[in-house]
Amino acid sequence: MKSHAKAVVIGGGVVGCSVLYHLAKSGWTDIMLIERSELTSGSSWHAAGGFHTLNGDPNVAKLQAYTVQLYKEIEEISGQSCSLHLTGGVMMADTPERMDFLRLAHAKGRYLGMDTELITPSEAKAMFPLMDETNFVGAMWDPVEGHLDPSGTTHAYAKAARKLGAEIVLRNRVVELTQEVDGTWNVVTEQGTVKAEHVVNCGGLWAREIGRMVGVELPVLAMEHMYLLTEPMPEVEEFNKSTGREMIGVLDFKGEIYTRQERNGILLGTYEKACKPWSPVSTPWDFGHELLQPDIDRIAPSLEIGFKHFPGIEKAGIKQIINGPFTFALDGNPLVGPVQGLTNFWCACAVMAGFSQGGGVGLALSNWMVHGDPGFDVWGMDVARFGEWATLRYTNAKVRENYSRRFSIRFPNEELPAARPAQTTPLYDTMIANNAVMGDSWGLETPLWFAPRGSEPKDVVSFHRSNDFGPISEEVRATREKVGVTEIANFAKYEVSGPGAEDFLNRLMTNRMPKTGRIVLTPMLNEFGRLIGDFTIAKASPRGGEERFMIWGSSAAQKYHMRWFEKHLPKDGSIRIHRFDQTLVGLSIAGPKSRDLLQKLVDVDISTTAFRFMDFREMAVGGAPCMVNRITYTGDLGYEIWMAPAYQRLVYKAIKEAGEEFGLVDFGMRALLSMRLEKNFPTWFRELRPIYGPFEGSMDRFIKLEKNDFIGREAAAKEQAEGPKLRRVSFIVDAADADVMGDEPIWAKVGGKDYGTVEKPHGYGAPRFDAGGKEVRGSNAAEGASAVRGIVDGDWRVVGWVTSGGYAHYVEKSMAQGYVPAALAENESAGLFEIEILGHRRPARVNVEPPFDPSGEKMRT
Ligand SMILES: Cc1cc2nc3c(=O)[nH]c(=O)nc-3n(C[C@H](O)[C@H](O)[C@H](O)COP(=O)(O)OP(=O)(O)OC[C@H]3O[C@@H](n4cnc5c(N)ncnc54)[C@H](O)[C@@H]3O)c2cc1C
Repeated sequence: MKSHAKAVVIGGGVVGCSVLYHLAKSGWTDIMLIERSELTSGSSWHAAGGFHTLNGDPNVAKLQAYTVQLYKEIEEISGQSCSLHLTGGVMMADTPERMDFLRLAHAKGRYLGMDTELITPSEAKAMFPLMDETNFVGAMWDPVEGHLDPSGTTHAYAKAARKLGAEIVLRNRVVELTQEVDGTWNVVTEQGTVKAEHVVNCGGLWAREIGRMVGVELPVLAMEHMYLLTEPMPEVEEFNKSTGREMIGVLDFKGEIYTRQERNGILLGTYEKACKPWSPVSTPWDFGHELLQPDIDRIAPSLEIGFKHFPGIEKAGIKQIINGPFTFALDGNPLVGPVQGLTNFWCACAVMAGFSQGGGVGLALSNWMVHGDPGFDVWGMDVARFGEWATLRYTNAKVRENYSRRFSIRFPNEELPAARPAQTTPLYDTMIANNAVMGDSWGLETPLWFAPRGSEPKDVVSFHRSNDFGPISEEVRATREKVGVTEIANFAKYEVSGPGAEDFLNRLMTNRMPKTGRIVLTPMLNEFGRLIGDFTIAKASPRGGEERFMIWGSSAAQKYHMRWFEKHLPKDGSIRIHRFDQTLVGLSIAGPKSRDLLQKLVDVDISTTAFRFMDFREMAVGGAPCMVNRITYTGDLGYEIWMAPAYQRLVYKAIKEAGEEFGLVDFGMRALLSMRLEKNFPTWFRELRPIYGPFEGSMDRFIKLEKNDFIGREAAAKEQAEGPKLRRVSFIVDAADADVMGDEPIWAKVGGKDYGTVEKPHGYGAPRFDAGGKEVRGSNAAEGASAVRGIVDGDWRVVGWVTSGGYAHYVEKSMAQGYVPAALAENESAGLFEIEILGHRRPARVNVEPPFDPSGEKMRT
């Protein structure tokens, strides 16, 4: 074993081997993988080997498509077969709601390069004759599904990596990780210490233990998982003989089961409700190639439905039941990327579908390590997406919830209950007493809407408008016409201070920094000129002679942004960044009477001229020391008031008492989001994401190319000079009883004209590789097939996708935001666009000016 390496990958499961292969392919050959036992000694060896491209997050779906494409490549390089069976598969819907869910998934496929098709139960039965099709109302066919040999595939990655120069050390456990002052890692193993620049945690079932070696508690938990194998079945053999084909894979939502052909019999696996964590606190080091005791009682309810839906299987004898553990993060997607607060410590763990996702994970992580950027929009699997609140017990509750709901529908207005309430503000009990329906915002309880007195504060979950519609309308109307108050503790808040703080922020942000007492809005770009942040920044008066800036941003992106800030901080420690999290909370008041209300609570003049739109000031509100921004996300006259948690009840009480004479109402997050829609305001992670440039995102007025050499300036200047290909636009939609939720296709009547943007961009900038192993730059390497069924319909063509939307209650219109080709972005003609909502194409019209207060006069008064 060598004593130095550029990177050490810990763990020789399918994920570690894929990471090693991709690093080697990127040109890093001074790399080694260290495996405790033999390759596949964790969960990889007993996997059912199924793969598919579908994923709730379209960006993760893209990386799954890449994984499937990759198998041919690694077979060729390694000479090792993966035993690939590309059979295709169906998802079966047993209710109209599940069919709506499939319609949504199918609609997304129109611009994601996925070739899915909605089919009848009888058509599904023709491909899987063991089912009783009368149990179902419809199905979705996906041709890119199948199964493979898990062990062969892991070895194919490993052999291919070796051929490219990587070293693999077996039977050698990593026992300790320490870091030198210069950043070098000491990877202490049973066979000696390796000095490495980078360490990658691909520990699978032991990922938590490896995290603990560097003081990190990763939010990952192993769950027991069972599948059964039947004896050979004559029906299967007969089908193969008569059709010349293998039976397809089937996913049955109702039974929470997946099933497919395995040799001459059937494999059937369950995601049972009565699921069971395995080794919830720590994983024994001596666990290896043994299986867990099967527990048929636990999966009996699923089997009962399964045998009813697939009577052909019930008759077969069960040959074997496999029960093995594998790992999950809270939302079921992997944990990938650099861990915030550490240097060169990388994660590729919690990969619950290693044979669907392993390739994409390896590609994104190797790009990130070699080129400093994943090259794709990997937010859906970024290790930074969970906060400190994701403790061992929190993770346990959430992973169990996620596992037991793996095949359940998540409705757009559905809040999941496990591990809640976790974080609460001092106003939590007050909000509950006010009949608030609470939601989880990055682990924090946040009021969503207020149910009428006497009614149960509970969402009726639905894809259609629901029981919150009326109350939200009232919250919006009262706020727009009088005044409303809402909690905004769920924003991210930071303070940047120290000599040179302004220069530091100027280098990171696209807009000029404000003068003392003023506020600016500013995007942040990466080196490739893509949007990686959107902030409100105020310059506070200096303290101790040092510059001081307050920053507000997206709550969910706190660790993601801290990682970026820390990467760019001067090494001399002159600039400090403080993340407040819940040590700073807030309230926002908005509406035409908000100034009169606030004036009653402060001892300074806040008239239009004394406290202007986009002013920032530290002042006492109701006797509590606060920071006040004259700005609100409602786009009305309004204020954001920030205080230490100890003062929040005092300020809220003062606002409520003073607001009585003005008709003050409480409003929740959903009303806030409705109001931002009628102002055409974007949201981070929906409209603004790293796949879009700032001009594509219609953020033109915040991009000051002439101000200085900020990060991403060159790429942004190029985007502006060449003209953005896409534009973010706002639509008014002729909806019925359902509004857009996000990710719906946008159709345009363009005749034969192809605007060339049918596929949603996914990758950007960083070098990466196409399916043939060729390095490509600046194109969508992981896009998958582009010949998609159903993107052209006569004169109509899918030209874009919705990012978010809903009902704009004050202007009483259904609205959507999304991306379309730039050439169509300002065309407000009726009859040009349609947006597909739950399978029905609804007329939509581009709306360049916001329907509420287009001139911005109200917020400036
Ligand atoms: C019953 C069952 C069915 C499944 N079916 C499917 C399926 O159909 N499709 C699918 O895609 N996925 C399936 N999976 C999940 C799949 O197995 C996992 O996604 C995959 O194995 C994860 O691979 P990994 O490399 O992350 O982890 P692991 O396979 O657990 O590998 C981790 C490796 O790290 C090594 N290691 C850990 N700590 C150290 C250390 N300190 N020093 C050195 N080495 C160390 C371990 O020995 C191990 O070999 C199934 C899993 C189970 C249990």
